[in-house]
Amino acid sequence: MLLDKVPGDLKLYIGGLFTLRRKEQMQEANITHVLSVLRQPLDKKLFESYKHMHVEVDDVEDENLLEHFAATNAFVQEGLDGGGGVFVHCAMGKSRSATCVLAYLIHKYGITPSEALAQVRQSRPLVEPNEGFWQQLELYHQMNMPTDIDSHPVYQRWLYQRQVQMSAECGQAPEIENIRFEDEHVSPDSPETAEFELKCKKCRRKLATSTHLIPHTPPPHNAPFPQTLTCAHYFLDPLSWMRSELEHARLEGRLECPQPKCGAQVGKYAWQGMRCSCGAWVVPAITLARGRVDEVRSKGAVEGKIRRGPGVGMPATSATGRGLL
Ligand SMILES: [Zn+2]
Ligand SMILES: [Zn+2]
Repeated sequence: MLLDKVPGDLKLYIGGLFTLRRKEQMQEANITHVLSVLRQPLDKKLFESYKHMHVEVDDVEDENLLEHFAATNAFVQEGLDGGGGVFVHCAMGKSRSATCVLAYLIHKYGITPSEALAQVRQSRPLVEPNEGFWQQLELYHQMNMPTDIDSHPVYQRWLYQRQVQMSAECGQAPEIENIRFEDEHVSPDSPETAEFELKCKKCRRKLATSTHLIPHTPPPHNAPFPQTLTCAHYFLDPLSWMRSELEHARLEGRLECPQPKCGAQVGKYAWQGMRCSCGAWVVPAITLARGRVDEVRSKGAVEGKIRRGPGVGMPATSATGRGLL
């Protein structure tokens, strides 16, 4: 089909660029609003009879479509509220337009990206957001679909990770002023529980809490490289005690315990990424070696109380969007 209706009560349609020339189909569906999601000049005449919104993005994984969701959702909603049909298109009606339609459904119904995808594929099986857009949809859902995304700590962290990744791909460490030291971003209204602390084995200096850890998933156990079942490293956010090392702007190096007179090597970092002993590839990689630190249960966690701790104001588990990159 050229113009596929999203199954359900909504007069929401998805398709490719070519569909715009099918005037009868567009009229039959009573289209009043058209959302174009592609980077190319468009023939203005095609949009004369519609309210039109144009989001200029390429269908590539590192394109930021997430920052447009609030605006595209509002546009779709306006069209539907007016009683007409809304047509969302890109070039093929496969990735970019589909991502915007999925974002709308996720926002409207509070469903997961997978549920939204299953719904849209009932009428348009070819729908397939690229991997980067898919991660953005998952992040959007994890953040609970905020209207003001720019001030959301999870979004800020995601932007930061993208920046680090891009500079690492060019063989450059991030500038010290661009590094986000997670313990300097304490959110006073979002208390969180740190399950445990990591302390230097030699001097007992506290180095991190579990809220600073970045979870990673080991690949399946037939991967083409050596693997162990346990992880030899904790991966974590940059913390302010690492500043004196990270300000050298080296691509990789060692991390030493900041306690004066201790200075034991406790970990290492590699902005371009590092493979954990379990086989997972983590970017960027800032690590504490399991053999150099002790895991100590936090007092607050033992008593079952919620403790105000450093971090981004989100649970330490998957809800932070960590480990996406
Ligand atoms: Zn130490
Ligand atoms: Zn691991």
